[in-house]
Amino acid sequence: MDNYLLLTPGPLTTSETVKKAMEFDYCTWDNDYKEITQSIRQSLLALADVNPSKYTAVPIQGSGTYGVESVISSVVPDSGTLLIAMNGAYGKRIGQMADVYGIKHIDLAIDEQKPVLLEDVKSVVEMHPEITHFAMIHCETTTGILNPIEDIIPWVKEQKIVTIVDAMSSFGGIPIDVSGIGIDFLISSTNKCIQGVPGFSFVIARRSVLEATKGTSRTLSLDLYDQYHEMEVNNGKWRFTSPTHVVHAFAQALEELKLEGGLQRRYKRFQSNQKQLADGMERLGFEVLIDEKWQSPIITSFIYPTDDFDFHEFYQELKESGFVIYPGKISQVPTFRIGNIGEVYRDDIARLLKAIQEIQDREKAM
Ligand SMILES: *Cc1c(COP(=O)(O)O)cnc(C)c1O
Repeated sequence: MDNYLLLTPGPLTTSETVKKAMEFDYCTWDNDYKEITQSIRQSLLALADVNPSKYTAVPIQGSGTYGVESVISSVVPDSGTLLIAMNGAYGKRIGQMADVYGIKHIDLAIDEQKPVLLEDVKSVVEMHPEITHFAMIHCETTTGILNPIEDIIPWVKEQKIVTIVDAMSSFGGIPIDVSGIGIDFLISSTNKCIQGVPGFSFVIARRSVLEATKGTSRTLSLDLYDQYHEMEVNNGKWRFTSPTHVVHAFAQALEELKLEGGLQRRYKRFQSNQKQLADGMERLGFEVLIDEKWQSPIITSFIYPTDDFDFHEFYQELKESGFVIYPGKISQVPTFRIGNIGEVYRDDIARLLKAIQEIQDREKAM
């Protein structure tokens, strides 16, 4: 079977050279390998544009959820209260984590089609002086909405609340002023905007806040402080077996992000892919779910065009044409989603739109 193009928010289509980088069986304790880990940690800090004496990058084995769970279970003490802003499945997932660990949490539930706004957060924080930690999602991949962290996080930080941002599907593809806006913990993973393969997540953490969490973790394997400590004292050593092939592929993906011209260039490509996609789909009769003002350049939700629209059939036909898209994830409106990150360029979007047009033409002819 020919490889199809993944128009999903990750895992996504990676370059040939990223895949090729996995054809070497590294020893997980070897010095050369540890150096690769160290260089990845440095590159991540450079990408976050933060001062390495103030911030550190800590990789965690597992998919993105493991990274988020590592932060939630390692940094909020039993005496703390976590405020969680939720306008989609990923915000809700943080609530599930807090439940599992018995962490006190207050949920700020917002309509899934609306962004989280500063006024919403303010009113809850002002009513609840016991809040010590705050978590929100940057790009809510559930719908493709981009929450305005730059309006919210600085105010929350001013209240001396520890700030946690799940930037899984935005970091590396959308510029984020991590230290400027006051993020203490930012979580992302290998297989989204940086265009690596799935296998680990990473946390960009403010050192002073991270160091104060020593001994807080409720688990062994997701202990963020401990993983950080081991990497610092043992020069890039992971505590347990690391995904060696994934790590090597990720180093290559970071190199390719540089070669593309860096974060701003990649952001431009994602923006232009998304615009071309949304405009083209609208011409074909599909309405975008999210208001343009809040639409991310990562993934777009489209409303089913008719009551009898058969997503399963549409999906299969597109797959036969070489494209894999995503079902919707919200309950109020029937939608499907198309991602535009990964090795996806202007011509690919044009081919996709043509394939959809052909499906429509065949239907009309029937
Ligand atoms: C992808 C994603 C995650 C993590 O999901 P995994 O399936 O564990 O990789 C978390 N938050 C957001 C916003 C995401 O897009």
